[in-house]
Amino acid sequence: MGVISVGLQDCRERIDRACRLAGRRPESVGLLAVSKTYPAAAVREAYGAGQRRFGESYLQEALAKQTELIDLELEWHFIGPIQGNKTRPIAGHFAWAHGVDRLKIAQRLAEVRPANLPPLNVCIQVNVSGEVSKHGVAPDEALALARAVACLPRLKLRGFMCIAQATGDPAEQRRQFARLRALLEQAAGLGLDTLSMGMSSDLEAAIMEGATIVRVGTAIFGQRQYDKETTS
Ligand SMILES: *Cc1c(COP(=O)(O)O)cnc(C)c1O
Repeated sequence: MGVISVGLQDCRERIDRACRLAGRRPESVGLLAVSKTYPAAAVREAYGAGQRRFGESYLQEALAKQTELIDLELEWHFIGPIQGNKTRPIAGHFAWAHGVDRLKIAQRLAEVRPANLPPLNVCIQVNVSGEVSKHGVAPDEALALARAVACLPRLKLRGFMCIAQATGDPAEQRRQFARLRALLEQAAGLGLDTLSMGMSSDLEAAIMEGATIVRVGTAIFGQRQYDKETTS
């Protein structure tokens, strides 16, 4: 078995174990394999091991990979911050956008989502840690944004997304993920079903707090080598 297949299997086992601890069904947590910075061949290997949903953060890199992998049936999620001038290719080439944090961007995505595609699935990114370096709407503005986005055509608001602070402290990780869960509970009535939270280093804490999608890169594919030339 290749290293990526092993990484995927290890990751699925971590998810299953966390679900058992949390008293949840393993099927209630989806695994989004974050393939940013890894080559198309890595995605192909993961596909061969049964993985279908992939997350990308850098638009040009993602589009090139999609072209190379056109023969596979994959579900692509855009998980990076969304700039106004990139809404059209994102709306045209992805099934999901996780990083929506402004109404203006959501409106643009709604305007340019191609009519022949199903509605774009959207998560609102919330800055649960309050770090200035982080994207995302402030928690106390998230509900109002969710209500506005839920009204837009061509989009399907699914829930909320966050990136917790990089801390080795599981209790602090859980506190931050709990903020996202509380928002989903407060948004009852909007028909949301998604908490996109948890990465390689904190997926267990996220699952304890109700994550329905974990976004995992390095634990599947290995350490990333960033290359500024190719990842803009
Ligand atoms: C890169 C990235 C991930 C994956 O992070 P790992 O630590 O490699 O698992 C998840 N979510 C977002 C938004 C990312 O940019």
